[in-house]
Amino acid sequence: MTAPLPVRRPVRHVVIAGGGTAGWLAAAALSRQLGSLIAVTLIESDEIGTVGVGEATIPTIRRFHEIAGVDERAFMAATGATYKLGIAFEGWTRPGDRYVHSFGTLGRGTWLGDFHHFWLEARDRGFGGDIGEYCAEHQAALAGRYGKDGSSEPGPELSYAFHLDATAYARHLRALSEAAGATRIEGRIADIRRDPDTGDIATLTLADGRVVEGDLFLDCTGFRALLMADTLGVGYEDWSRWLPTDRALAVQTPAMAAPPPLTRARAHHAGWGWRIPLRHRVGNGIVYASAHLSDDAAHDLLLAGIDGEPLSTPRVIRYRTGRREQAWAANCIALGLSSGFVEPLESTSLHLVMTGVTRLMQCFPFDGIAGPVRTRFNEQARAELEGVRDFVILHYHLNRRDEPFWADRRDTPVPDTLASRIALFAETGHAHQDADELFRVDSWVQVMLGQGVYPRAHHRMAGIMGDARLRQVLETMRRDVARRVASLPAHDAFLATHLS
Ligand SMILES: Cc1cc2nc3c(=O)[nH]c(=O)nc-3n(C[C@H](O)[C@H](O)[C@H](O)COP(=O)(O)OP(=O)(O)OC[C@H]3O[C@@H](n4cnc5c(N)ncnc54)[C@H](O)[C@@H]3O)c2cc1C
Repeated sequence: MTAPLPVRRPVRHVVIAGGGTAGWLAAAALSRQLGSLIAVTLIESDEIGTVGVGEATIPTIRRFHEIAGVDERAFMAATGATYKLGIAFEGWTRPGDRYVHSFGTLGRGTWLGDFHHFWLEARDRGFGGDIGEYCAEHQAALAGRYGKDGSSEPGPELSYAFHLDATAYARHLRALSEAAGATRIEGRIADIRRDPDTGDIATLTLADGRVVEGDLFLDCTGFRALLMADTLGVGYEDWSRWLPTDRALAVQTPAMAAPPPLTRARAHHAGWGWRIPLRHRVGNGIVYASAHLSDDAAHDLLLAGIDGEPLSTPRVIRYRTGRREQAWAANCIALGLSSGFVEPLESTSLHLVMTGVTRLMQCFPFDGIAGPVRTRFNEQARAELEGVRDFVILHYHLNRRDEPFWADRRDTPVPDTLASRIALFAETGHAHQDADELFRVDSWVQVMLGQGVYPRAHHRMAGIMGDARLRQVLETMRRDVARRVASLPAHDAFLATHLS
């Protein structure tokens, strides 16, 4: 005799606690895609506010925007957005150096091996130039060019993302969510009740006494993690031994005359600083380890590195790098800062919210929450965040700077998953992207080379070509990239015409 199947509570009402970017991204996608099947309610508190940062994104945002019904032009106009083709890393191996991690593809490889093997072969023979010369996004970013819709040479569209105003973005997503049927409740969640039989979250009580019931809850309450940590007691896996920065300071400055389609990440003696150019202003900030830099000194360092008068008062944001041990526990899913945090070096947090929401919609528990679905969701969330963690550690670990903070980063053993990846590349030139991993082979290659790892060997297929042939193949690719980039308009000119 088989045991009777457990009775499950169907999920008809999703309650989102928190209206930062995470909450509104979830509300926008759920209400647009599943709004005819479920009710979506979001609770946010103006009194508490949002973290108010999170302004650099990666190309996956465009796919999510299609899912959530975000029109690109309207969104760009509403959020003062600019295009982004990559990130310039300054001073990450030693002060004064620079490399770019672009969103593009490096050259053209073959089924046998990726392009960088050919480039490494040429480099050994004394030609080939910089690997960035084989990537249109890389070159366009440095040249301050971007355009589309017939304004560039024929060919695949450049791979791009956006810089955006986080507060305006949440506002824009809110308007879309409400238009798609989501209900917004303003109020502070003061009490959370659990079902005594199942342990599930049953109700959220607001400070004014209103009670909100739900079947599935999304914890989007930011670093507070009100539902996941305080109520369900889900622990936090601390990763600060590998990524010890624990504070950030952000400040806004006036717009640049010609905003580049590139985020800047400049290393300093105890962390790094960002510059994110928007149309109406620039977002600046620094990330630092409080064990190596006081808040006052960080404040001075931030203000010394900005262009123009500050438009806001810098405020300290505290965080602990790591991940919530379960992204989904009982009938609650953590999204955004409540689910964990890896510093914004590679602009991954909003992406992780988006993949979390997408995954939830793909396995949505209309007929009740089944344990195996939760387990699978948690495994994917863990693998994804660990991949991001390793990629970010890579930048820190492979430095040659002298300061104690950087010497510690070099000397601290990295996770085994990353150590084997570095060793593989250093020995053979092979790089890989595993299932559930965000970063492409070309991302790993750009950062490994950028951080100074030149492999001892590479695939010998590249050695079959004689000098003249190899030169010719590479030169053709380089010329194609240069021609394509030269055909693009200046980024600021394109923004002005495209968004007018
Ligand atoms: C310094 C820094 C820089 C960053 N830069 C980037 C970047 O460039 N790119 C990127 O992708 N990500 C970045 N991030 C991450 C990004 O900011 C977040 O992932 C994103 O903003 C989502 O935040 P959130 O919605 O989870 O939290 P929050 O913005 O903190 O929102 C929490 C919400 O919960 C509500 N709330 C909390 N408690 C209660 C309560 N008791 N009752 C009712 N409501 C409540 C709040 O009012 C708010 O609406 C950065 C993060 C930091 C710290």
